[in-house]
Amino acid sequence: MMTLLFSLIALPYAPNALEPVISQETIEYHHGKHLQTYVDNLNKLVVGTEYENMPLEQIVAKSQGAIFNNAGQILNHNLYFLQFSSTAANNHKPKGTILEAINRDFGSFEAFKAEFEQKGVTLFGSGWVWLSSDKDGKLVITQESNAGNPVTKGLKPLLTMDVWEHAYYIDYRNRRAAHLQALWQIINWEEIESRYNQ
Ligand code: MN
Repeated sequence: MMTLLFSLIALPYAPNALEPVISQETIEYHHGKHLQTYVDNLNKLVVGTEYENMPLEQIVAKSQGAIFNNAGQILNHNLYFLQFSSTAANNHKPKGTILEAINRDFGSFEAFKAEFEQKGVTLFGSGWVWLSSDKDGKLVITQESNAGNPVTKGLKPLLTMDVWEHAYYIDYRNRRAAHLQALWQIINWEEIESRYNQ
C-alpha cells in the first residue's frame, strides 16, 4: 500500500475570512483544488525515488522536472496561504525586527511595497514574487518563474505573492496590479517576522 507522504495544509482562517481581498470561491479553488492537485501529483511521483522521505525544502533544492514543479508549488502555496490573516485582524502592518530590516534595506515600508508590487506586475507569465533574507539577514526581493522558490538561491523565503492567473482571475480578472495592491490588507506581519527571526 502507498503511504501518503505529503498532505494538504489546513488553513488557519475560515474560507471567507480574507474577503473582500480574496473571495471564498478563490480560496476553495486555489487551496482546495490547485494545491490539492500538486499534493496528489507529488505523492505519486516520489514513490520509489530518493525524494520519498525528504522534507519539501530539500526536494525543491535538489530536484528537477515534474518532482521539482509539484514540490515547489506545494512549498510556495504553503508559505503563501499561511502568511495571511483575516481582514479583521490587526497585524497587517510590520513591527519590530522585520520593520527595522525593511527600513534599513528599502528606506521605508512604502518604498518596499512599491518595489514589491512592481516586481509582481512586471513578472512575465506565471510565477511568484518573493521577499527573502540572505545569510546575513539582508532582505531581497526576487522574481521566480513557474514553481520557483528562493531556497534554490540559498535564500530564506519570508513573504510571497502568487502571480499565476488562478490566484486572482475569479476576483480581479486581468487586473493583476489591483490584486497585488489589495493583498497588503491581509498579510500577517507577525508570521513574516517570525519567519525572519527563525
Ligand atoms: Mn497558486
